[in-house]
Parts: sequence; structure tokens; C-alpha cells
Amino acid sequence: MLFKPRELPQFGTAGAAAPAAAAALPEAALPQGLGRRLAGHGKALFDHLGSPSWAPDLAEDIGSAEWFRGLATMLGLMVLAVSLGPDSSAIAASPTMPLDSNAREEFRSQMIQPLALGGDTGRRMGATMAAIPAAGVPERTSLKFTATLGQGDSFERMLARAGVSIEDAAAVSRLVGGVIATDQIAPGTQFDIALGSRDGGPRQLDHLAFRARFDLDLKVSRAGGQLQLESHAITVDTTPLRIRGTVGTSLYMSARAAGAPIEAIQEYLSVLDQHMSLDSAIEPGDTFDIIVSYRRASSGETQVGELLLAGLEQGGRLKAQLLRWGKDGQFFEASGMGQRRTGLIMPVVGGRITSNFGARRHPVLGYTRMHSGVDFGAGYGAPIYAVGDARVIFSGWHGGHGNYVKLDHGGGYATAYAHMSRTAVGVGGAVRAGQVIGYVGSTGLSTGPHLHYELYRNGTAVNPMSVKFTVSNQVDPGELAAYKARMAQLKTVKPGAAMQSLAPRQASVGQASNGREIDKLS
Ligand SMILES: [Zn+2]
Repeated sequence: MLFKPRELPQFGTAGAAAPAAAAALPEAALPQGLGRRLAGHGKALFDHLGSPSWAPDLAEDIGSAEWFRGLATMLGLMVLAVSLGPDSSAIAASPTMPLDSNAREEFRSQMIQPLALGGDTGRRMGATMAAIPAAGVPERTSLKFTATLGQGDSFERMLARAGVSIEDAAAVSRLVGGVIATDQIAPGTQFDIALGSRDGGPRQLDHLAFRARFDLDLKVSRAGGQLQLESHAITVDTTPLRIRGTVGTSLYMSARAAGAPIEAIQEYLSVLDQHMSLDSAIEPGDTFDIIVSYRRASSGETQVGELLLAGLEQGGRLKAQLLRWGKDGQFFEASGMGQRRTGLIMPVVGGRITSNFGARRHPVLGYTRMHSGVDFGAGYGAPIYAVGDARVIFSGWHGGHGNYVKLDHGGGYATAYAHMSRTAVGVGGAVRAGQVIGYVGSTGLSTGPHLHYELYRNGTAVNPMSVKFTVSNQVDPGELAAYKARMAQLKTVKPGAAMQSLAPRQASVGQASNGREIDKLS
């Protein structure tokens, strides 16, 4: 009612409209005197605010002092309305029960908490007079447990740690030492130990059993007060494990699927890598032939040993057949044994010469200089072979040559191989012709993977293509015969022969006339 309808022609006194507002107060509910007085004040306030000087029609006389006063009234009321509005912040409710730190501790002590959180709940009560201390706690009559021989551990220390008395430990060491040197027992070996009752002193050893060797079980037990040793030889079959299969998209995956142990495949690949380029030489459809030494105990354990033979065939034609031979574990191709070959061994397989020996403009340094070797273009990582038997006189980083190997072939000749991604030989080592000494890379001053190959005659670089190294693999005839016999022997191993059961089949052991259906299943 602050703003009057416009159609009223004349406001006259405010009294004409204001009583209507005043009448809205619940006058009847109030005590007569107070009500009348409040009504009187309200009426005066409404009369005052309702006067045209405070609330003029803002559509008229825009800009006049009265209009500005009316505007101020309106803005003031708006600010008042906004300031009286409630804000939307959360109102904190008081807890239903006030908790001081004592009460909180009390609640906590009654919680059940997982041990992982500390398990410190619960109340600790002092013992009352009703609690009677136990006079003695009964001891277990025997203790059975397993002890393990650690790395760098000793048999005697292990026994002492397990609680075996000094006398028993000495007796056991003497008994076991008569069969196997106790320092020959492999770390990680587990010992089943049983300690008996004690007569005042430490518990006496009743039983000790362990696998002393792959093919030997030992058992020490007490009989009639004395420790006695029983040894059981375990039948071990040493048929090598032969795995043949077809190379699919991945030789590794195919060999794994055929049952080859991971270490055997890794060794197979690294052996092949030293004799051929793995990227191009192995194709899908080839047949791989892996033979590893293998030991099987009749108790079920197996041990995979070293790779013995690495073969690769394509349609019945041998691509590679490498046999481990000699005490340094090198692999030899049958064709490489006993034959005398002469010719130029190339330091990389299939590498084409991209830059010849002589003066040329250096691609990196930009000026013309002597090219002291021959560059072979080859793929990154391709193996680099020694061109002849030699001694390694340098292997490592060599400035602009990057990773570099220099070989002394004797007779004043030396060869050097630069820009390798990595070297595969150490200084001072002896290498055979055709042995891998490193891998093609682009280290040092190089524009891309290639082999920079140098030949030195009495310390001066000469054209490497001018000298032919004579490769001779002269082998003692007896050794060659032994090699061939070993190869033939390994090749008689049937793939999967080592997988057959050592023990007779269960079905043939049981009585055939038993007649129970379940026994017919094998
Ligand atoms: Zn070069």
C-alpha cells in the first residue's frame, strides 16, 4: 500500500488510505491499551511512509528532488529486504551427547577393531584375588618345523638356530659329512626337523630329513638313544629335453607353446644370434630344434640345464645346427669343425660397401679427409664378426669411433670396428674367426647405423679389402670324431622323451581284475 493506484486523483490526507493498513494489525488479540497504542504508532509510521513526499509515483516528475527521494526510499527498502534474507550457510547442530576426552576413550575401549589397526581397544582389568597364578605351564612334548639353509649360511649354524643342542648338532654334522660335504648343500635347502622332550637341558633331536642333493635324500633319526643316518638315492633320469616345433609369427611364442623353458629359449636365440641375423634368417614355417640338458628325479622334480644343441631347419634343409663343444661352452657348426676354409670373412653378413677406402668428403665434419677404412651399410644391431683369430686390444668408447673394438691378429696385422651399438668382447680376451665381437650401431661421428671397418699393417691403416685372412679351424681328428658322435647321440633323442613318466603307469600297477570302474581310468 506504499504505492497508491494512479487513478486516485488526489491523495488528500494520507488518512484516507493508511487506516486500512493499520486495521490489518491483529488489534483484537492484543490488550486494549497496548494494542491501541501500537496501532497508533503503526498508523503514524504508515502515515509517514505513505505520504507522497516519501513515496511519489516514480513515473512522474522524473529528476525532481521528490522523485530522487522516492528512488532513495525504494532502494533503501530493497537493501533492507536483501539484508534481512537468511544466508545459506550450514548451521552447526550440537551433539546429542557432549563428549569429553574421557568419554571418547570409554567409547573407544568398547569398540572392536581389527588387529591391523593396532588392536589397542578393550579394557585392561587388574587381576582380582579370584585369579590364581599357574604353578607351571605344560610343555609340548615335541616340536616339528622346517628350517631353511640360507645363502652364506652353514649347516651347523642352521642347526644351532633351529635349537638343536651342540652335542646333537656335532653328531648330525659327523653323520651327514660322511655322505656329503656339508658346505656342498645348496642354499635354500629345507630341513624337516623334529625336536623331542627335554630333560632339563635343550630338547633332543629326534628327526632330521632333507634333500642333500638332487639325487640324494638323507634322514637322521633317533633309535635307541643314538642318532642314525639313512640315505636314499633318488633315481634321476638325464635324458636331454628336446623340443622341436614350427616357427610361427614368433619363435619365442612357438617354443614356449611347445614346452621349452624360458631360459633355454633365451640361450637358443642368443646362440643363433651369434651365427646368423635373427631378423632375416628365421622365417615362419621354419623348424626349430632345441636340446637342453635335463634332469628328472623319480620324486617328480626337474632341473633344466644348459643348451646343448641349437638347430634351425627349413623344409628339411639345415639352416643352422650348433653344438655346445669344449670346456668354454662355445657353440660350433658341424661344417665349421675340421674343415680348412680360406677366404675373406666379412665382418657383417650381407653388408654392402657404402664408402670405400681413400680420400673423401667427411659427411659429418664437412671437409675432405682420408677415409681410413671401409663402411658397410648394415641394420642396427646386426652382429659384427671377427675376421680372424685374434686378441682383443681395445674395446670401449674411442672418440669419434664411438664404441670400438680393435683386434690384434698377430704378424703385424690388426683390424678395428667402429660405431658399434655395443661391444661383445673385453680387452685381453681371445676371439675366434667368425665370433661376434659387437653389434652394428651409430655411435660416435656417424650419420646412421653402419660398420666402419679398418685394417692396420704394422700400425698403418691400409685398404681392408686388400688382405685376405686365412681361416683355419683345424681340429684334432679324435676331437672331431667325438664331436660327431655327440651330435649323432643327441639327435637320437626323441622330442618329448624326457616328458615321459619315470614311474610305471598307475593303471598297470593296480590289479587288473579289481573290476572297479574308477581303476580303469588312468
Ligand atoms: Zn667409415
